[in-house]
Amino acid sequence: MAVLWVIRRCRLAALALLLVHLTGAAVSSAWAQAPTPPLVTSPEAPEEWRLPGTVGTSALLFVSAARTESGSSVVLLRTDRPVAFRTAALGDPPRVIVDLPGVSVAPAPGGVAWQWRPAAAQVAERVRVMPATPNGGARVIIDTPAVLPFRATRVGGSEPGVRLEVLWMPPHRGPVVIDPGHGGDEPGAIGSSGTREKEVNLAVALAAQQILMDWGVVCLVTRADDVPVDLWERAYLANEVGAVAFVSIHCNASRGTAMGTEVYYTSPVSARLASGALNELVAQVHRPDRGVHTARFVVTREAEMPAVLCELAFIDAPDEEALLCDDQFRYRAALGIARAVYRELKSSVAP
Ligand SMILES: [Zn+2]
Repeated sequence: MAVLWVIRRCRLAALALLLVHLTGAAVSSAWAQAPTPPLVTSPEAPEEWRLPGTVGTSALLFVSAARTESGSSVVLLRTDRPVAFRTAALGDPPRVIVDLPGVSVAPAPGGVAWQWRPAAAQVAERVRVMPATPNGGARVIIDTPAVLPFRATRVGGSEPGVRLEVLWMPPHRGPVVIDPGHGGDEPGAIGSSGTREKEVNLAVALAAQQILMDWGVVCLVTRADDVPVDLWERAYLANEVGAVAFVSIHCNASRGTAMGTEVYYTSPVSARLASGALNELVAQVHRPDRGVHTARFVVTREAEMPAVLCELAFIDAPDEEALLCDDQFRYRAALGIARAVYRELKSSVAP
């Protein structure tokens, strides 16, 4: 249960120069380009950081932080209307990034970032807000003591915004990166009933993440929402946090002529994870075993750790499309992936 501190301290005078632009240009496509600007202003650690400049479209109104009883931190980014967002974790130094493409903030005077050290939060050590690009978009960076898993959800209703929970985990296994294929304006393959691959991939990825975290494995996803992510960026994120395993989740398509599960990898270092993933998936979802194959997909080629791409089933085969829409099938696919990853982690340490 979250313990919320509600002390409100508005330091509008100190922040009065922070204006919200009216523009809403697309956010930078590359996390690698995330600026690490000088820090300009630092409100004294209140539990809620109120931002001035509420005029215009998609304003970031305030940021609040709270600590849960388990030591996790909940950071709320309150906006004046529901907004889209993208998240990423980076490893050096450890931090979580939330990009708000439709929200614009002005650079702080003399630099481009505002910072805040929440008094209440446990693992959200510092929050920085800056323009995401010269043309618009806001980037919020939450510094954490280690690479930690997080959950981000869009909040609607009368208090819209983004709720970010950074989960505290004791010394742990991982991190593992799960990559739901496609997203945003890239639906992936589409079934004859209209099922979009990107939605299946995301649901299975989030379920696998939850299972792995329940097992004590720090697990990150390359996207937690319906947003596009560049292919190179997906592998980059895994490399940057020092991931020990990477699993990209996809659905296959073959003009309705094939069915079954298959797994791809590029480097020999990934062969064990590939065969493990195939075996565990087939054992869970009971689809025809189409084997493991090598291919030079960007994500498996560029990732610097055991990395595989799973094709769960054929979305353009009506029988398998129906299964891919079924919650129980999705959970079993996620369980198969999680089991394979967990076995890989156990076997990658000294016997
Ligand atoms: Zn795909």
